[in-house]
Amino acid sequence: MPTSEDSQHDLFQDAITRLTTAAALSEIEDEAVQRLRHPKAILEVSIPIRMDDGTLRVFTGYRVRHDDTRGPTKGGIRYHPDVNLSEVKALAFWMTCKCAVVGIPYGGAKGGVIVNPKELSPLELERLSRGFIDQIADFIGPETDVPAPDVYTNARIMGWMMDEFSKLRRQRTPAVITGKPVSLGGSLGRDDATGRGAYFCIKELERLRKWQPREIRVAIQGFGNAGQHVAQLLHNDGYRIVAVSDSRGGVYRPEGFDIASLIQAKNETRQVKAVYCDGSVCEAVKADTISNEDLLELDVDLLIPAAMENQITADNAANIKAPVIVEIANGPTTSDGDAVLVAKNTLVVPDILANAGGVTVSYFEWVQNKAGYYWPLEEVHTKLHAIMVREFNAIYELMLKKSIDMRTAAYVHALNRIGEAIEAQGTSRYFSNEIAK
Ligand code: GLU
Repeated sequence: MPTSEDSQHDLFQDAITRLTTAAALSEIEDEAVQRLRHPKAILEVSIPIRMDDGTLRVFTGYRVRHDDTRGPTKGGIRYHPDVNLSEVKALAFWMTCKCAVVGIPYGGAKGGVIVNPKELSPLELERLSRGFIDQIADFIGPETDVPAPDVYTNARIMGWMMDEFSKLRRQRTPAVITGKPVSLGGSLGRDDATGRGAYFCIKELERLRKWQPREIRVAIQGFGNAGQHVAQLLHNDGYRIVAVSDSRGGVYRPEGFDIASLIQAKNETRQVKAVYCDGSVCEAVKADTISNEDLLELDVDLLIPAAMENQITADNAANIKAPVIVEIANGPTTSDGDAVLVAKNTLVVPDILANAGGVTVSYFEWVQNKAGYYWPLEEVHTKLHAIMVREFNAIYELMLKKSIDMRTAAYVHALNRIGEAIEAQGTSRYFSNEIAK
């Protein structure tokens, strides 16, 4: 049995494996790759919180800044009981690559607190969020490191965090954090940006593969912010969403679901499975319940993992029938699972491209905060569309040109940009030549 230390070690190491493969195909110098193997800085904090019943609980949180060569580090904060340092390091590394993939001027970071937020009252959640900012305030800032939402954090939490940071600074500082409520300096279009970015990738696939939406059966694992939005956007265009799941299980209906009522019911009952299979609705609309594992192996045309990492592994990759996977979660496929998919020619639009819509609109939010000038929704959508289409096609063409899989192409694309920035500061090739002169 691997110890939890081992498995923690594995996630970051697994992420770094991709770096080695892609670096060999890109123009990046070895020295630059060496730098990317090590996060720039790691902070672990304890957050003492007074609970509603008067007792004290001490939570552990992390913030990792991976690389800031291309700009301030950027990345979300997640609240989850399984948060661990290796995971946060891997997520921070992926953010460095993601920001480079879409060409926005940021490095990568990530934060996390070990907590099950569903067990906290709203007031405890607010105290925890403000308490975390109190502990990391010296580590973040609009020009150093800019957090955002991630798994189980949302706009309201970002609003509390921005307010706390502003209090500490004695200065209103909206640009310290993105994904805020629009009324507190958030950007229009940030709430559905991750789903919409993935949707724009799927529309490019539709064009390239001449898909008829009505014929495309889609399974979505994870029905949080991104999963719900991509489901709605695809459904509006006529795609058939035949399976959806959340952490408690899923539902399958070959005729497809009406997504608006699924979202509404999920938000009322807080679980997807209950929507169709508790009580009368289950009888009215025939749907089978399925597990998260079974959802991945359904006979569908498009599979969208939109939940957590490590879902597609060497154990189940061979059973996956979908010919196309669009990764909305961060790191849903392990590198050995990926090798199986590559071998059987599954087209995987990788996380660092497919879910980059979120951080792209976060960048728009930061720009608007710094300018103090706010854009209409149309402008956000148009600018996001332009970036997603440009980068999707650049990566798709690189994949064809180099005969590599799309994930490797995305990494090569990212590493070329990161490498250029690191090399602009000088590597030993430059310095030894200068000294020789
Ligand atoms: N948590 C999101 C991600 O993984 C968004 C990050 C951000 O907006 O900074 O991409």
